[in-house]
Amino acid sequence: MNTMRAARFDPATRRLTVQDVPTPSPAPGQALVKVAACGICHSDLSLLNGVFRTELPRITPGHEGAGTVVRLGGPTPGWEVGDRVVLHAGRACGTCAACISGAALDDCERIEIMAFDFDGAWAEYVLVPVASMVRVPDTIPLERAAVLADAVSTPYAAVVDTAAVRPAETVGVWGLGGIGTHAVQTARMVGAAPVIALDPLPEARQRALELGADHAVDPTAVDALDQIARLTGGRGLDVAIDAVGRGVSITQAGRALGHRGRLVMVGMSQDRIELGPITPFARGKRTAIGHLGYRKEHIEQLVDLVSLGRMDISRSVSAQLPLENITEGVRRLEQHEGNPIRIVIRPDSTA
Ligand SMILES: [Zn+2]
Ligand SMILES: [Zn+2]
Repeated sequence: MNTMRAARFDPATRRLTVQDVPTPSPAPGQALVKVAACGICHSDLSLLNGVFRTELPRITPGHEGAGTVVRLGGPTPGWEVGDRVVLHAGRACGTCAACISGAALDDCERIEIMAFDFDGAWAEYVLVPVASMVRVPDTIPLERAAVLADAVSTPYAAVVDTAAVRPAETVGVWGLGGIGTHAVQTARMVGAAPVIALDPLPEARQRALELGADHAVDPTAVDALDQIARLTGGRGLDVAIDAVGRGVSITQAGRALGHRGRLVMVGMSQDRIELGPITPFARGKRTAIGHLGYRKEHIEQLVDLVSLGRMDISRSVSAQLPLENITEGVRRLEQHEGNPIRIVIRPDSTA
């Protein structure tokens, strides 16, 4: 256990290679977690293609991890070796005013993010703060627990917190990959009606209908906005969630808003935001809001919601690959091969 297999990324050459590296040792307040599964996310692609940067000369990507505690750095009340956990990707800096005052992990003013500021979970083991761990009951397989970190919790936070969706509000979701599909499911769960799912791919629309959308619309159809108007009885959308992050989808989502409609931008790119004429936006008292990430409580809530059968993530893991095949997983996500919700890597194929 002195060395472990890990996918290492070199930002200078943009090469990703699986190699042997020293297994890290937990200090007090930290835990070493044996990774059972870790998702491959569009944010990882952004690191690999240079859009997102790291200050480190080499880094292990992967910020959607779940596994089992194998070592604890000193006394850790409430935690034991063998505990099953899903990992919040944040690490408090420990030195900002909020951290010094004893604030929670989520309130750190300079929060460090796994896979960008410190080594992530595309590896056999990952070193994390105990504060980032959320317990997973035996009823949830660890590969499903892994998708709760980010792939489910980010759209969940966008729907319940940033958009603050209320029962019977009309909700449209643009882009039905991992983020958008879970946004549809969350909107359905909190009582939004109707939930309208938009994606150019017929298979993605069909899957969204099976997972809780009331209607599915092809956003490239010339009458897409008319369809949304008709499906909402002429009201337009109370909430539009954009999980695409392209100028064209933001513009369309903004134009689909009704009175006091909120546009929540979850997808990201360098595209410019174009919301159309100002007057209808102002007269309609509309809002456009950016969204990033989730809080620890969102993962805790999701563990309960999955355990109690309110949120069904049984279809969320589209494929599982060994760590050695990480570049194959990255390629599949990049090319949308098989239209995945989430592809996860399994560093320990015996787990
Ligand atoms: Zn992610
Ligand atoms: Zn801090």
